[in-house]
Amino acid sequence: MIQPTNEFTVGHGPLINIAQAVIVGQALPERAALELLCLENDRVYDLMYAAFLVKRHFVGEELHRCSIVNAKSGGCGEDCGFCAQSASYETSAETYPLLGVDKILRAAEFAKSHGSTNFGIVTALRAVPKGKMLDQICDAVRELRKRGEILPDASLGTLGKEELQQLKEAGLEVYHHNLETARSYYPKVTTTRDWQDNLNTILWAGEIGLKTCCGGILGMGESIEQRVEFFTQLRDVNPNSVPVNFLVPIPGTPLENEGNITPLECLKAVAVLRLMLPGADIFVAGGRVQRLRQLQPMLFFAGANGMMVGNYLTTPGRTKKDDLELLADLDLISRAEHDQLMKPVPIMAGVPVS
Ligand code: SF4
Repeated sequence: MIQPTNEFTVGHGPLINIAQAVIVGQALPERAALELLCLENDRVYDLMYAAFLVKRHFVGEELHRCSIVNAKSGGCGEDCGFCAQSASYETSAETYPLLGVDKILRAAEFAKSHGSTNFGIVTALRAVPKGKMLDQICDAVRELRKRGEILPDASLGTLGKEELQQLKEAGLEVYHHNLETARSYYPKVTTTRDWQDNLNTILWAGEIGLKTCCGGILGMGESIEQRVEFFTQLRDVNPNSVPVNFLVPIPGTPLENEGNITPLECLKAVAVLRLMLPGADIFVAGGRVQRLRQLQPMLFFAGANGMMVGNYLTTPGRTKKDDLELLADLDLISRAEHDQLMKPVPIMAGVPVS
């Protein structure tokens, strides 16, 4: 039987109709997003091609590369079930108080040496309180802005407008805060945090004029419908960039037995996100190595235009050499930039996370 066709018909053939509809400004309906996430594996390449066309139209050759420093690790009072840094679970994550400004700056130099354009200061806390701790982070932001080598970003929990404003005045470029997952699934992930607080913080950051970075973690046991719900909620936030993480189950946490999302499911998710947030910087962060495995380079064909380089909060990334080689082989960076970045940099003792 011949199916009726419209711009968002998934059908049985190539999905160029969907790419064209998104390119002329139509929003991918949730029903179509669900169908696309449920495609048989032999059609993943049709989906990736549609997402690639949309990426090329909206973000072109732009490559997003960022790094983070875990500036205050472990001992967190919240109970997020995916997190090695919660004090509720026995994990092997390090615990240390807020790093001094000098160590944060050295970590930023290290990030710069990986070719990152953005450097995120991240703390394991529900929210960094106003006062000494926030002042110290603002000092680091101010110094990074003064040096002008890498853009200062931060991920400091569910801050209020006043604290966000203080960071902005210090020179912060981007505020990062994840929704983590769909609103309907969030209570399965944590009992101590409120999804609405996450939403408020990221909306406030945008309201006061900061660039926003907001995403979450896939493969935590959410249903495919909840994945669509989550992507729709991200679309409503309309962040400048979207970090996509795939769960790396941490022994000792409640989600230690989740994280079975396959490499092709990861690529489908990235592609559908691109179709739903066509103009955002979509980059793959935690779980890239473990969940995409040998398919890592394909994330760029699936619609991502960036990746986090260096280590993650509590799990290691790939070597600088491997990541730079991947980008150069795909011609996403020039061979000259690759060679320049591969030149040895001085060892910076005392930097706990690259
Ligand atoms: S995700 Fe953040 S708030 Fe939740 S336990 Fe980990 S560090 Fe704490």
